[in-house]
Amino acid sequence: MTTRRIRNIAVFCGSNTGEGDAYTTAAAALGRALATRGIGLVYGGTMKGLMGVLADSVLASGGHAHGVITRRLADKGHLHQGLSRHEIVDAMGARKARMLDLADACIALPGGIGTVEEFMEAWTLNQLGDIDKPVALYDVAGFYQPFLAFIDSMVERRFLPAAHRAGLVVADDPMALIDGLIAQPAITVPKWMS
Ligand code: AMP
Repeated sequence: MTTRRIRNIAVFCGSNTGEGDAYTTAAAALGRALATRGIGLVYGGTMKGLMGVLADSVLASGGHAHGVITRRLADKGHLHQGLSRHEIVDAMGARKARMLDLADACIALPGGIGTVEEFMEAWTLNQLGDIDKPVALYDVAGFYQPFLAFIDSMVERRFLPAAHRAGLVVADDPMALIDGLIAQPAITVPKWMS
């Protein structure tokens, strides 16, 4: 059985909080779980939306929060002022690359197109074998069910090997997400189907 050493997790999540309390409650729970497990948070470095709730929760629980933000967003005043560490980079592309460099695994909380874009890049790089950093969806209140239906249709229509769908960790509990990432073996199945 696989047991990965996971020191830091990159979390992608909404720069809005979403409707109701479910998403902020989940972001805070993930922050507490990371701190409790001694896993550092790597994230977008802002205090906006779920990102701010998550970072505040990590810090309030005694954990380590490392933000990577762009110059443009920092100049707009979006940088979280209380982080354990932050870095300012030139562009969103450099920011994504740096977040992935720092992380051993990735989790997407609910969010908008920015969240999905970051998550898909990390998953795609795993599929190509460029990185081996497992990815997870925090499926708060069934948020990712329509997305997973779309992904399952890619498998059915033979655009995505089933092994890569199976390697995606999905849970609605932060401890189960972290345990799933730790136990996730590398996927060596080629992306191209005969
Ligand atoms: P979205 O899901 O569209 O709200 O975008 C959120 C994702 O894009 C986050 O995971 C961030 O990495 C990035 N992002 C969007 N807005 C900001 C912001 N104001 N500051 C830092 N990162 C942001």
